[in-house]
Amino acid sequence: MHKSIAIIRGDCIGPEIMEQAIAVLDRVAERFGHGFEYMDAPMGGEAIDKFGDPLPSSTLDTCLTADSVLLSAVGGPKWDDVPKDRRPERGLLRLRSGMGLYSNIRPAKIFDELRDASPLRPEIAERGIDFVVVRELIGGAYFGEHKTERKNGEDYASDIMAYSEHEIRRIAHVAFQTARKRRKKLCSVDKANVLDSSKLWRRVVTEVGREYPDVTLSHMYVDNCAMQIVKDPSQFDVIVTENLFGDILSDEASMITGSIGMIPSSGLGDGTRGLYEPIHGSAPDIAGQNTANPTGLILAAAMMLRYSFDMAAEADAVENAVSAVLRDGFRTADTMSAGKTRLGCREMGKAICDRI
Ligand code: NAD
Repeated sequence: MHKSIAIIRGDCIGPEIMEQAIAVLDRVAERFGHGFEYMDAPMGGEAIDKFGDPLPSSTLDTCLTADSVLLSAVGGPKWDDVPKDRRPERGLLRLRSGMGLYSNIRPAKIFDELRDASPLRPEIAERGIDFVVVRELIGGAYFGEHKTERKNGEDYASDIMAYSEHEIRRIAHVAFQTARKRRKKLCSVDKANVLDSSKLWRRVVTEVGREYPDVTLSHMYVDNCAMQIVKDPSQFDVIVTENLFGDILSDEASMITGSIGMIPSSGLGDGTRGLYEPIHGSAPDIAGQNTANPTGLILAAAMMLRYSFDMAAEADAVENAVSAVLRDGFRTADTMSAGKTRLGCREMGKAICDRI
């Protein structure tokens, strides 16, 4: 198969980890007889420096014509003071919205070999952590009206969290369908005791649930969910929630699995073209040191093979290679523990390639 992939190398550790993800994709192409064509798509800080815009129209065009998009991470202190509408993160929000990606799926799965890296007590981690967070991606507070003004002699700021029925309905379908392919348990998370947008959320998710009688639906307030994720994560199979809650809960969920450097994420809309990225940021504190963990981005590439290219065997090969590297005792700095062998970013990428 021939597939074109838009590549957003990103900022700080971005280019370092992307180099390893491309090496892994090249190894997959070689082993399975595919051809991957990479199309450079500058975004974030790199694009601000070159074009004065975090998402130039040429980049959006490239992403909309490619079969899928692979992104490392954007941003960094160099661009912290640029005007709000031109910040690197704005480029990412515009890209998600331009590609119509309304669902973000983030797995929280602990590798057996990394149980000792989980901050949870062993008896909790040993019960197993294997759930996914389905987060609504282009609605809610991040896309509502943001306003800062002077009122009664002081600054006043507000952000509107708004949802329409159809926005909730389509993400609910994604969540129920995801649950159907797993253990058939869906927990919808909201703050329906306080927020109107959450009351609507709960009503619509409940209505959609009638179309999926084989999936057990429960509802949970977001504050309780934040507690339950650390108290007994084994109770969860699929969690569905709105944009802001999902941002926070999925970071919490990834931390309990060991390292933020290990977790991939996918953004999908109605078609097969997706945006695949690790959940971490551009880690300016370790940029250029060959210490970043490339695994989150490599597993994101595996998700792309599985969900956008329908290449399940190829995705399995990448995921199994990651497990094998861990089993053989190799770690990057962020997951290092006593008795293991520490590898740099490049060496970890090579170790994974060698096992595909
Ligand atoms: P971050 O995820 O970049 O870093 C948090 C901590 O995790 C740091 O100590 C970092 O060294 C570590 N870390 C992150 N990724 C790692 C990896 N692959 N291997 C080893 N350690 C890793 O979050 P931050 O510090 O809050 O943000 C840094 C910059 O990234 C900011 O400019 C922020 O806006 C941007 N950011 C971008 C994205 C994105 O592109 N999707 C997401 C979040 C943050």
